[in-house]
Formats: sequence, structure tokens, C-alpha cells
Amino acid sequence: MEIIKNCYIITMDKHLSQFECGAVVIENGEILDVGNEKDILSHYKADNIYDADKNILLPGFINTHTHSAMTLFRGFADDLPLNNWLNDYIFPSEGKYVCEEFINNGCRIAASEMIRSGITTFLDMYFFQDMAGKVFKEAGMRAFLSEGLINFPTPDMKDPEKAIAYVEDFINKWIGDDLISPAIAAHAPYTCSDKLLRNARNLADKYNLVFNIHLSETALEVDTILKENGVRPAFYLDNLGILKEKTILAHCVHINEDESLLIRDRGSSIAHNPQSNMKLASGIAPVNMFKRIGINVTIGTDGACSNNNLDIIEEGREAALLSKVFENDPTSLDAKYILQCLTINGAKALGMEDNIGSIEKGKRADIIIIDIHTPNMIPLYNPYSQIVYSANQSNVNDVMIDGKWVMKNKNILSFDDSNLFELGEKWKKRIKG
Ligand SMILES: [Zn+2]
Repeated sequence: MEIIKNCYIITMDKHLSQFECGAVVIENGEILDVGNEKDILSHYKADNIYDADKNILLPGFINTHTHSAMTLFRGFADDLPLNNWLNDYIFPSEGKYVCEEFINNGCRIAASEMIRSGITTFLDMYFFQDMAGKVFKEAGMRAFLSEGLINFPTPDMKDPEKAIAYVEDFINKWIGDDLISPAIAAHAPYTCSDKLLRNARNLADKYNLVFNIHLSETALEVDTILKENGVRPAFYLDNLGILKEKTILAHCVHINEDESLLIRDRGSSIAHNPQSNMKLASGIAPVNMFKRIGINVTIGTDGACSNNNLDIIEEGREAALLSKVFENDPTSLDAKYILQCLTINGAKALGMEDNIGSIEKGKRADIIIIDIHTPNMIPLYNPYSQIVYSANQSNVNDVMIDGKWVMKNKNILSFDDSNLFELGEKWKKRIKG
């Protein structure tokens, strides 16, 4: 048994309960109790007591859209429109360089960067996910990993006809693991055939897995789908049976009200990626409308090549600020809502709301502690505002996943991340010559 005491707990439970001087009891990876420090210390005796020095304790952040290993393409092709960026730089470079070693090295950088940003769970769409699974398992992260299914050959699926069998193999390797969950990804409606989309959906249904896809990221995509199919992209996906619970739609920049109502009625979630959308000038997702309609909104960093970092705290702040400008309303997407998007909403999107996303009895102990002793965090009037508007990833002090400390006092404990710079230099030489 372990007790974390002397912390300002924001639980993110449905009442948004908080304890100004709180404590959490953890046993076998589970939250046994949470409450006022005085009550907890009078009820429980533990050999292991961690004094959190008045810092803020909250559930770990959930990043619902990323391409982890793309850290190695960080800063490699910037200031370009999405189509050029994808077709002239990303897809050709992925074909040339992405291999198991690339995934191993890129995921090690991503694991360190995400843990340092307070991310305890994430949903990844990329390649060689068996290798990614090994890295994130070692890093002690809760990862939902999906192979990016697409119409053309990919670095690890040379024959698109055999892709579904390849993905099923990957599922069977990892299903049932306590930290790594296989998931299904179809790249986008404009890069996947109807047949591929249906097959991907069937595979997700067969194993009851999370399904994710990029949707309506650009206006061009909407025009293309409308021209080819006569309906807007969300309706097109729905006609194929794609929209269901545990379906996460990344971006949703160009979605109208009818599509939003459909997404809500199907119980699907949206992964909002404000920085990637701004950088690629894709547009501004109407998140305030999604919220009003009742869609479960979550936040993703997207890959480090279109962001260019995996700092989810920064992403939450950009989501709030962008919506205020877009709506011309400073009350749009307040700090509490943003923290819900970053925690419990992410858990709901992944079908994990009974297990993670809040600090509550019986949930798994995915916990982060934010340092409030640095100048940018002083003084502390409101912990929600402080995290969303003042903090950055360097304020994340400690990270526990499934009851294990993976970072303490800003040192990663779960794996050796001392050689990341050398890994980056090696790939820079190979890619840029
Ligand atoms: Zn993406």
C-alpha cells in the first residue's frame, strides 16, 4: 500500500470534487481511497508515504490522437499545406525510412516526451505497432495502438490485400495485455476504399476494439467525398456502418450541425487537434458546437511532425484560446471543460471510463502531480485555470501509471531515456544526409 499526501487533488469525477489538502491510497495498482489528508491518514497505515509538497494531483492526461514514431520527422517539413506535406514529404519518406528500428527509436522519444507532459494513456495510429507495443510496454504507458490501414502499400504492409490479416495477427499478439490494447485505424475516408473501411470496421467489431479515423480535416476532403458519393463525410462513414461507440474521429474541422447530431447519436467521440489544424491551416473545428450538441470531445496532439511537440497541456490551452477567438466569446471552453476533455472524456472515448480518467475509488492508479513551485505557477487561486492557462509540460513533476511510478521528480524511472539525442542525430543523418 502507498499513500500520496499533502496535495491539492482535483479528482475530475462527475461532481468535480476536490480536496485542498488531500491524500490518495493506492494498492495493487488501484485507487483504494481518496479524500482529505486527515481522514485518510487516520484510516490507513502505509509503509510508503509520498509527500507531494502541496502540488496539484489529478488523473493522467489522455491523448486521443497521435502518430508516436513521427517524432523522428519533427521539424523535417514545415510551413506546407496538408496535401503537399502528406504527398510530397510524409508518404514518400515513410516509404523510404520507416522500419522497425525507426519505430523503436521514434517511440522511445515519444514515450519520454509524453510521460514528461503528463500523458498516461494515448491512442496511436502508425506502423510496426508490435514494435511500438514493446517500447510502450517497457515505458509502462497505457497505449492503444492501431496500424494505419490505407489503400496503398505501407512500410510494413506491402500488400494492401493482406493488411487485414496482418492487423489481426497484431491483435492476437496483444489482446488481453494489462497496458497495451490493440485498436483499429483506417487512415481517412479519402485514402481508404469502401471495402477497406468495411473490413476494418468488421475487425474492430469482432474483437470489440477502439476504431479511429481522420475525418474532415480539410475542406478539400469534404468536396472530394461530396463529389464522389453525394453526401458529406460523416454521413458517408455512417452509411458504411463506421460510426459507433468507441469510434474516435480525429480533427472534424469541417463538420456541420447535421453531421454533429449524427456523431452524437451514434455515440462516437471527436479528437480535437488544434495545433495541427492551425499549423496546416486546415481550419478551426467548431468545438463549442460539439459541446452544445453533446458530443464527447477529447484532445489529441497529432504527430510531432504537424504540431511539432507532444505537449498535451499546451494543446489544451490552444483548444481553449482558439475557441474563444472563433466564437468571439471569452467564456467558450472554460478551463474545467478543457481538463474534462483531457481526462475523463478521453477515458469515455476509449470505453475506459470505469477504469481511468478520474481519481476515484476502484479505478486504476493513473496519476500525475503538477509542480506549483515554479514562478509561472505562483500564486495558486484556481487549479483548473492554473493547469490550462499557466502550466507547461515542464511543470509535470511525477507520473504514476497503473500504480507504478514511471516518473518521479522529473526523472523517468521506467526506461532509460538518456540516449534520445543520439537516436535523433542518427536518423537526421540518414534522412537529411
Ligand atoms: Zn493524424
